[in-house]
Amino acid sequence: MNSKRHPAEPFRIKSIESIKLLSENERAKKLTEANYNLFQIDAENIYIDLLTDSGTTALSNKQWAAIMLGDESYAGAKSFKRFEKAVQDIFKHKFVIPTHQGRAAENIMFSTIVKPGMYVLNNTHFDTTKGNTLHKGGIPLDFPCQQSKDSSNFPFKGNMDILALEEAILKHGTDKIAMVIMTITNNTVGGLPVSIKNIREVSALCKQHNLLFYFDCARFAENAFFIKRYEPEFADYSIEEITAEMFELVDGAMMSAKKDGMSNIGGFITLNDKELFEQLTELMIIVEGFPTYGGLTGRDLDSLAVGFYEAMDEAYLEYRIGQVSYLGERLKEIGVPIVEPTGGHAIFIDAGALLPHIPAEEFPGQALSTAFYLEGGIRTVEIGSIMFVEDDSETGKTILAPRELVRLAIPRRVYTASHIDYIIETAQEIVRKKESLSGYRIKKQPKFLRHFTCELEQLNSKKIKA
Ligand SMILES: *Cc1c(COP(=O)(O)O)cnc(C)c1O
Repeated sequence: MNSKRHPAEPFRIKSIESIKLLSENERAKKLTEANYNLFQIDAENIYIDLLTDSGTTALSNKQWAAIMLGDESYAGAKSFKRFEKAVQDIFKHKFVIPTHQGRAAENIMFSTIVKPGMYVLNNTHFDTTKGNTLHKGGIPLDFPCQQSKDSSNFPFKGNMDILALEEAILKHGTDKIAMVIMTITNNTVGGLPVSIKNIREVSALCKQHNLLFYFDCARFAENAFFIKRYEPEFADYSIEEITAEMFELVDGAMMSAKKDGMSNIGGFITLNDKELFEQLTELMIIVEGFPTYGGLTGRDLDSLAVGFYEAMDEAYLEYRIGQVSYLGERLKEIGVPIVEPTGGHAIFIDAGALLPHIPAEEFPGQALSTAFYLEGGIRTVEIGSIMFVEDDSETGKTILAPRELVRLAIPRRVYTASHIDYIIETAQEIVRKKESLSGYRIKKQPKFLRHFTCELEQLNSKKIKA
C-alpha cells in the first residue's frame, strides 16, 4: 500500500455543504462558553468534525435517487422488500428485522435472550452493547486477543482470545451464557479487524458447546477488506465473497447501519432461527414499529439497500482505508504518537505520550482535543480518563483509563485529501507548541456519562483568553 500520498477519491462532488472556519478569537470564545467541553459546541462552529463516523456519511447520487422511490406505506412497503432482499443477498440469513439503529437491535435481542445473571461474551463490547447487556441484568465479558495489548504490527488485533473464551465457557457453564458476540471491526480496540481464521475458531467452539454466536457487524465491509489484504487465503476473493464467508460462520448478526450501511440512520437483526425471529418480532412491534419499517422511513430503508453494496465496493474501500492510513503515517512523521496498526475508521492519538508534562489526572487527551479546536476548528474526542473513569467499589478510589487517547474518526466520503492535509498541518502546529498546553480540572459533572456534559477548567491557564 502506498500511503505516501492520499488516495485519489473514487468519486467526484455533485452537491456541497459550506463549512466555515471561525477566527481564532471566536474559537477561543466558543471554547470558554462551552466550558472546554467539545460536545457542547454547536456544529456550525466546527470546521472539520471528527467526532464520529456514525451517521455522518455522505450519500451517493444512487442513494438520493433511491430515496425518491421510498414507499412510506405502513405495512408491506416496497422499500422494506428492497431492504430485506439486500440484507438477505449479502448476509445470507433468512429473516430480517429492521431497527432504527444498532442499540435498538441490541435492546430487542438482549431483552429476549439475556436473563439476569447470564453472561454475554464478546471480543470487546462496544459501549452500547455493554450498556444493553447490563441493563437486562446480564454480565458482559471481553476477550480481546493478547496482541491487542502489545505494540506489534499484527493486523488482526481485533481478534478474540480463544483460550480465554474457552476457559470462560467451561468456568461459567453453557446454561449461564446468553450468547457469544464477535464485533467486526473491533471498535473499542481501535477499529481493528478480526480474521476469518479467528471467526472459524470461535464458531467451532460455539457449535461444540451449543452456544449462540452472533456478529456485531457495524463495519463488516471494512473488516472484509482487511481480510482480503492480510489473510492470504482470501487475496483473490471479492468483498462480497468474503462477507458471505464470514456470515456463514454465525447464527445471526446485529448491525448499526450508520456505519457500513453508508447512511445516516438504521440498523437490523438478521438470523435463521424462525422461533427466535418470531419472539424478537413480538418485542420489536412494541418498541420499534411494524416489522416492515422498524423505526425507519421507507426512504431510509431504500438508502440502506443501496448503501450496503456501496460499502463493499473495492475502489471505495481502498480509498477509505488508505485515507485513514495516510493520516496515521503523516501524523507519525511529524512526531505524533498513534495507536498501531491503524484500523478502518479512525486514528487514535496517544495524548499521554505526546504531552508527558500533563499527568493523566489532568487529562492530556482533553488538552489535545481542545488544542485541535483552538488551532484549527477541528472537533475530535477524548477517549481517556474523562470518558472512562471508574470508582473502585472496594477502595472507593478513582481508577483512570488505561491510556489517554484522542480519537479522530473519519466520516465516510465526506472530507477530501486537502481536508486531511489541513488536519495534519494543524497537528504540526500543536506539536510545535505542545509544551505550552496545560491540563484540565472538572468543575461540574453529572453522575453518568460525564464526558457529554461535564464542565472543565483549564489549569495554569495562560494560553486561552477569549
Ligand atoms: C455504533 C455501534 C453500535 C451502536 O449502534 P448505534 O447505531 O449507535 O445505536 C454497536 N456496536 C458497534 C460495534 C458500533 O460501532
